Amino acid sequence: MEFTKSTALVSPRHPSGKPAPPLPGAVLTALGEIWLDSHSCQAWFLQALHPQGPHCRWCGRALTSPAQAATWQALGRLRCPDCGRWCTPLTNTILSKSSLDPRRYVLLCLLALAGLDDRAIAQRLQVSAETIRRWRARWREAA
Ligand SMILES: [Zn+2]
Repeated sequence: MEFTKSTALVSPRHPSGKPAPPLPGAVLTALGEIWLDSHSCQAWFLQALHPQGPHCRWCGRALTSPAQAATWQALGRLRCPDCGRWCTPLTNTILSKSSLDPRRYVLLCLLALAGLDDRAIAQRLQVSAETIRRWRARWREAA
């Protein structure tokens, strides 16, 4: 086939001249954490877990200074002025001691909702299938 401007832009399988839309399966195959905005996932996750805002994960004291709020939003470590203990927003949550950050957690949820099995999700997130099975069990308990 001779290369022309039209052959570079038009698929021969689509006489209408419009490229075929990517099918949902292709989108699901390509979906990865880089498609998700880390800041948005983190902000959503913090709001879902802690609607009351920044606070000590040990004694519950509200952490109200702008510096504390910024550290909280960045998932940083904070020292409580009351009890003196250190915590992050993830301390004593479903993601403490987890290899998943909020963005990867959102991806896990999307892949599970899309119907992927444990092995396929585990492969995408580079965790064990057992890890995915445990997440499903946690969701069943929480529902
Ligand atoms: Zn405290």
